[in-house]
Amino acid sequence: MCGIVGAVARRNVVPLLLEGLKRLEYRGYDSAGLAIISNGLHCVRSIGRVAQLEAQAHAEQLSGELGIAHTRWATHGAPTEINAHPHTDDTGNIAVVHNGIIENYEALRRQLQQQGYVFESETDTEVIAHLVHSCYARHQDLAR
Ligand code: GLU
Repeated sequence: MCGIVGAVARRNVVPLLLEGLKRLEYRGYDSAGLAIISNGLHCVRSIGRVAQLEAQAHAEQLSGELGIAHTRWATHGAPTEINAHPHTDDTGNIAVVHNGIIENYEALRRQLQQQGYVFESETDTEVIAHLVHSCYARHQDLAR
């Protein structure tokens, strides 16, 4: 179980994402993170409560008009910063937050590693970021 927030607006959405995470914190509170697009993709992740993520986001003066955020209740991988969402692909251009479990993630992970993808976390979620990248790289329709 987890909490997911996404926002796009003609103003800085970081406070909105953090407020959303606070409201959803009961759904997961072992770690939290957010990704913002502002001259590229920027991620901040933190173990513990949303308040810790908020402090980090302020320290890094994170700001942008489009973002996603996640508060985690770990199912695959320990509650560490590296396992916190969002997870990104190798290029750092694709960020993913996810609720639930990917049952066939081990097979997908092996397949992607054979293609050269490098995994940094222990989560099932990270396969999505690499899988999306591999589809784009092969100009495949994601719906197939
Ligand atoms: N299975 C994912 C993980 O362990 C998502 C867990 C959640 O829904 O918070 O990171």
